[in-house]
Amino acid sequence: MNTQDYIALEAKYGATNYKPLDVVLTRGQGVWVWDVEGNRYMDCLSAYSAVNQGHCHPRIVQVMQEQAARLTLTSRAFRNDQLGLFYQELCELTHSHTALPMNSGAEAVESCIKAVRKWGYKVKGVPDGQAEIIVCENNFHGRTVTIVGFSTEPQYRDGYAPFTPGFKIIPFGDAQALADAITPNTVAFMVEPIQGEAGVIVPPAGYLRDVRRICTARDIALVTDEIQTGLGRTGKLLAEEHDGVEADLTMIGKALSGGFYPVSAVLSNKEVLGVFQPGDHGSTFGGNPLACAVARMALHVLVEEGMIENAAVQGDYLMAELRKLRSPFIKEVRGKGLLVGVELHPEAGGARRFCEALMARGVLCKETHEHVIRIAPPLVIARDELDWMLEQFAAVLGG
Ligand SMILES: *Cc1c(COP(=O)(O)O)cnc(C)c1O
Repeated sequence: MNTQDYIALEAKYGATNYKPLDVVLTRGQGVWVWDVEGNRYMDCLSAYSAVNQGHCHPRIVQVMQEQAARLTLTSRAFRNDQLGLFYQELCELTHSHTALPMNSGAEAVESCIKAVRKWGYKVKGVPDGQAEIIVCENNFHGRTVTIVGFSTEPQYRDGYAPFTPGFKIIPFGDAQALADAITPNTVAFMVEPIQGEAGVIVPPAGYLRDVRRICTARDIALVTDEIQTGLGRTGKLLAEEHDGVEADLTMIGKALSGGFYPVSAVLSNKEVLGVFQPGDHGSTFGGNPLACAVARMALHVLVEEGMIENAAVQGDYLMAELRKLRSPFIKEVRGKGLLVGVELHPEAGGARRFCEALMARGVLCKETHEHVIRIAPPLVIARDELDWMLEQFAAVLGG
């Protein structure tokens, strides 16, 4: 079968909720992937930052194979010998008191929403059914009905009403807007340290510090969605470290498994997650031994192999070199670590055609919104690989 055969099968039998680039991948290693025709590409998306550790990291492969042959799923009706170690390693690494294991990112977000509402009623004393959660314009927190209900992207919402009430939307990057929006019924503020899907939007320096101060003063939970920004992507373990803050709840996912398996978690101080009593919340696959074993190793390699530091160093270099390109198309280069957005002028005619030109030169990127090319390679990228990538950008964008 060739590329067109695979695409035809997808078109015939699949739901059409995605429009991928027409490359059919069959193998990956580190920053590289290969298509069914044998062409090699550099992966500059990393599955939306789920493959921070690089494709098919050998130490994660080995643990996954061993654990899969030993024990995969017990459900939480019984205990398993991986969960406790996963909790311990995850909490020690992130300075958290408590963790709640889930599977997808959206499931972690839903879990957070349940936790902060319950905390509002049981601890803060908000009248039943009145809890409000404040979120930001242009947020991306996932695709469930509740979550898209507080999205400001019309396409994510269109046709899916009625939505869950109880959310208030304020501008991103504006701490005063948060202070103004809080009422006695507000239980939480949920925010991405950098808005990835919105086009790699970096808030003003000190924003999270101001937000932290306001949340503490007004007794509401600060919830950071680090599903994309966390686990080394921005050059720190968690992006909130750039502002020197700790959220009350932090959601991680994506790279928590190195891209092997859906694993997410809510990290918390004890007070908030402590509201859950046995039976209040659950998930059949959440905390299963295969997920825990894979996530433990994904965290080990991230730290032990220096990937977080590499993201900081290579990210600075990447942005500095991109800013040197004298391109008629580039409006702005922004980001932190290896989460970089190249915004193009509207006259450039959209980012998609540049992504297609990059693909022809062996670089896989995906446009985010219409005018932004996101560059987010695996954090294992080496300087010579980055230089090769930059040559392809220069060729396509002119510089
Ligand atoms: C990807 C993402 C999610 C949703 O994760 P899924 O695993 O796709 O459900 C939530 N928040 C942010 C910031 C993300 O990037």
